[in-house]
This record gives sequence, structure tokens and C-alpha cells, in this order.
Amino acid sequence: MYYAIEHKTKAMNKVNKKCSKCKKTKNVSEFSKSKSTKDSLQYQCKDCVKAYRVTNKEKVVEYYKSYRIANKDKFKGYEEANKERALKHRESKKLPYHIVYALPNFNNSNEVYCGVTESTHQRMINHKSEGRNTEGWFILDVVKTKEEALDIEKSYHEQGYKGAKGWYNKKVA
Ligand SMILES: [Zn+2]
Repeated sequence: MYYAIEHKTKAMNKVNKKCSKCKKTKNVSEFSKSKSTKDSLQYQCKDCVKAYRVTNKEKVVEYYKSYRIANKDKFKGYEEANKERALKHRESKKLPYHIVYALPNFNNSNEVYCGVTESTHQRMINHKSEGRNTEGWFILDVVKTKEEALDIEKSYHEQGYKGAKGWYNKKVA
């Protein structure tokens, strides 16, 4: 309350003020109020403050854009970690789920394997016992129904991912 009165008094004593940025002398109404200056008015005029904000906003947007591009893998990892968290949650709640997963190096080649399971833990044990390389396995998707999971798996196989196509055909036919 006291501040508001004092503020008004101070501001009213001045008619014009020189902007520290554009150096133009403008009417005090062209300056926003400030709690940290002697005359209770901002150093820069409203136009200059606005211009700064616009430029700065673009800078911030650009910064995040380039950061996201430069750290694409980091974000990808984060998204995968989130999927794993969701998966653990589902597991703890005993909710039904079907996981579409991939083995990036299953034959020690560049080929990627894609499969569907209800337990990645058990499936990785099985893969290992078959002599598959499960290193770096990751989740492509987690869905509620098996049909959904098989559809997703099929689309990955169509994109060239390796997998038990025979198994898929058997289950769907
Ligand atoms: Zn200005």
C-alpha cells in the first residue's frame, strides 16, 4: 500500500525520461513501472523492452531447437527410459501389456530383430539360450492388446526388421 502511493508520487514528478537503450526522451507513460529504480520507472522504454523480449524469445526457441537436434540421442534415451518406467509401473500393477521390442545386433550383424512379448525379461533369457546377442535391446512400443502389438511388429518387419515371420503368420492367420 505504502509502496503504491510512493511509486505514484515519484512517477508523477517526472514528465519525460531518457531511455537507456534507444536514448530517446519520451513521456513517462512510455516507461513501465519498476520497484528497483530510483524514479520507479524502468530504464528502457516500453518499445525497447518489448523489442528485447521478442528477440530474446526467438533466441530461446532457437536455443532449444538446436539443443534438441544436437542431443537427439539423449532425448531418444529419455523417451525409452520413460517407456521402461511405464512398463515397470504396469508390471507392478499387474496390468496386461504387450511389448514390441528390438534387438539391434541379434546376429552380430547390422540387422535389427523385432519381436513381441509379455515379458522382456523372460524373452531375453530365451534369446540368449538360442545364442542371440541381446545387448542393447530396446522397447519400440508398449500396448494393451496382443493384436495391436502384432500389427506394430508386422509394420516393423515390412520396414525390413528381421524376426520370426513364420511365428507372426501362424498367430495371425
Ligand atoms: Zn527505448
